[in-house]
Amino acid sequence: SIPLGYFGGVGLASRNGILIKGSYFLDILVKIRQVVFDKTGTLTQGNFIVQNIYVANGFEKDKILDWVNITESGSTHPIANAIREQIQMKPDVSKISYLEDIPGKGIKAKIEGNEILVGNFKLLDLYHISYDENIKQIVNTLVLISVNNKFAGYIEIADQLKPDVKKDIGQLHALGIGTTVLSGDKNTIVQEVAKEIGIDQAFGDLLPEDKVIKMKEIKKQTEGMVAFVGDGFNDAPVIALSDVGIAMGGLGSDATIEVADIIIQDDKTAKVPLAIRIGKATKKIVW
Ligand code: ADP
Ligand code: MG
Repeated sequence: SIPLGYFGGVGLASRNGILIKGSYFLDILVKIRQVVFDKTGTLTQGNFIVQNIYVANGFEKDKILDWVNITESGSTHPIANAIREQIQMKPDVSKISYLEDIPGKGIKAKIEGNEILVGNFKLLDLYHISYDENIKQIVNTLVLISVNNKFAGYIEIADQLKPDVKKDIGQLHALGIGTTVLSGDKNTIVQEVAKEIGIDQAFGDLLPEDKVIKMKEIKKQTEGMVAFVGDGFNDAPVIALSDVGIAMGGLGSDATIEVADIIIQDDKTAKVPLAIRIGKATKKIVW
């Protein structure tokens, strides 16, 4: 029979907004030695704020922003939400004749006969679009725009750390657990975030498939269980690979909710060390 403590642990977690899909994961929580985090929307708020808009010579600003707005209306990425909020125009989606999500890179669309690309440097490089290399020096994240294979400008955006995230990372370290961040965002920004909140190791500029490769390496290097914590956007493959996949924010895609083992209903990183402590407390009742 199943010891009563397990039900107590799952119940205690659920009363704290942590949904555990079965008491098996309480055992795993206790054995976690490494927690791997996604950055955007997990360690940071995911509410990007537009800092600057630059339109390249020869392009009309209103037209470019209209096309970017329409393109981003096809995406639920936190970056897309921020850009739509800033532009504040009603996108006429009937103008789209083609739309493609390019994971870890951005979006491609055909609008009014024009080929529009909205995304990061990897996306522009993929389509061999040339741009002024000096813009790589800009500290913020850039959302680059191309129209008919010509660089048309960029939108500079910045995100903010969640409150208390440094303290929550410190709690994991106090429990003897290592921490990592894996992100598709610019490596310089990822390193800076990691340094600011005391995360042990950080890897940026990763495509979704690179995150999977890194996750496999981390699992090999870790004696004990590895958890992955993500906000649910695009994280399903890494969550599936981890020993315990934790989705937070409750806003993730259905695919993520399905593969996640634990769902944190709010967006508080403090729930990660709390879940582990609940696991440990439960084990003491069981044995
Ligand atoms: P992460 O959550 O770690 O930032 P993602 O795979 O979700 O990783 O995204 C990686 C990168 O791809 C983003 O940082 C951004 O540069 C680009 N990107 C993805 N989707 C969009 C989008 N809808 N609009 C603009 N850029 C995007
Ligand atoms: Mg993400």
